[in-house]
Amino acid sequence: MRKQVIAGNWKMNKTHREAEDFIQTAKNEVPSADQVESVVCAPFPFLQKLVEETEGTNLEIGAQNMHFEESGAFTGEVSPVMLKELGVKYVVLGHSERREIFKETDEDVNKKVHAAFKHGLTPIICVGESLEQREADQTMDHVESQVKKALEGLTNEQCAQTIIAYEPIWAIGTGRTATAEQANEVCTHIREVVSNFVNADAADAVRIQYGGSVKPANVDELLSQSDIDGALVGGASLEADSFLKLVEAGK
Ligand code: 13P
Repeated sequence: MRKQVIAGNWKMNKTHREAEDFIQTAKNEVPSADQVESVVCAPFPFLQKLVEETEGTNLEIGAQNMHFEESGAFTGEVSPVMLKELGVKYVVLGHSERREIFKETDEDVNKKVHAAFKHGLTPIICVGESLEQREADQTMDHVESQVKKALEGLTNEQCAQTIIAYEPIWAIGTGRTATAEQANEVCTHIREVVSNFVNADAADAVRIQYGGSVKPANVDELLSQSDIDGALVGGASLEADSFLKLVEAGK
């Protein structure tokens, strides 16, 4: 049985004070880590404080991006070494907003995934099609290509620890959720793609989240699907009450 992983992606939101208030409310309320993995992926300036405040609790902290290099002349970037040193456990990689707005390529994402494993961070790799691609019936091919490129060169063990987030771009922040069946269809395909280049145990172990307008009202149905092992949540992860309902659903 795969454990569900519910991750909030705060994106570029919250003040320091708001972040702290959230964590104080949520940190002792999330279910046991034996039942569900509860993660908040926060902006860089909040990470150190949030890691300190959640120490010894069942709430883990993740970053939303990083560079693949360990150090050097990369003004404005943050390295995997820095995240590891802070005690961050997860890192979102290849989010569609980074691919679209900041022009991240599949090759960048693959380098970041390798860097994450080198430094003991768990990658949450985002893939997903645009509305145009869905309407042109290219969803499966596009997602397959993104998954293959992101995971290229990983060992079975690394693949088994990877989290993949299927986030159809048309469902992000739009209130338009993929139906549970639509989401599961793609997640099942992702697991098949992974099974083509790793052993059966690793393909069975990889966790596949759905993301895109997940909220307390639709999370149960999504998580009940055979190949959906959690959720990556934007808007509905910003309020502690709503986040706590989502992690409860992952139990
Ligand atoms: P929303 O939950 O706000 O649609 O955002 C999804 C997302 O992009 C999470 O990474």
